[in-house]
Amino acid sequence: MTNHQPPRRTGPVRMQLLSVTGVGLAVLAVGSLVLWHGQVGELLGLTADKEPVVSSQNAPAVSGPPSTTLATTPPTPKPTRSPKQTPKPTKTPTKTPAKSSYGEESINGLSPTLKSRLKKAMAAAKADGITLQITSGRRSAAKQQRLLNDAIKRYGSYKAATRWVLPPKYSAHVQGKAVDIGPAAAMQWLNRNGYRYGICRRYDNEPWHFEALVTPGTKCPPREPYSRPVSD
Ligand SMILES: [Zn+2]
Repeated sequence: MTNHQPPRRTGPVRMQLLSVTGVGLAVLAVGSLVLWHGQVGELLGLTADKEPVVSSQNAPAVSGPPSTTLATTPPTPKPTRSPKQTPKPTKTPTKTPAKSSYGEESINGLSPTLKSRLKKAMAAAKADGITLQITSGRRSAAKQQRLLNDAIKRYGSYKAATRWVLPPKYSAHVQGKAVDIGPAAAMQWLNRNGYRYGICRRYDNEPWHFEALVTPGTKCPPREPYSRPVSD
């Protein structure tokens, strides 16, 4: 073969300049994406990580200092005491949700009241271009206990853990009376409009957690700083 010289490129310098500029732009773009992702991740990460929980429906009076460290004097539960008193070996409630009867991310395990209200809210949100996704609805007591055990490891104590994950017997999720919603835009929509359907955000520290707390159309109660294992 004769050696053909490849056709000469026109304006190699210009090409280089262009590609340098291109790389620069790409770096900028990737950089801002990473930043953006980081922020969103922080927001959503909260949801994903600590898949918390909820609480009994009897709201204790909101009185705790919001930012200070728990200055109240709760009866300091012993960390060792893990309320796993849900053995019910013989008495099998016909509806003990075997993982298959409902998915945790499904509307099906929810109480009739929350379910019907949430359906209406979902339809209204959709009309606004927002999809309300259930990231966690009803949970089994066993799942709740696992979450609590994990939270105790993560937060270092039973007391700290219960601000995010309540023991099964206090958890509204176990009763099908709470739902965690995502993504961020959906939480915001429901926080603004949920009262129309009687659905309220309950805790300051959990923007994703909602319960059917009031009569539809009436004002939601003041938020509680975080969940607490109280029954009265
Ligand atoms: Zn929740």
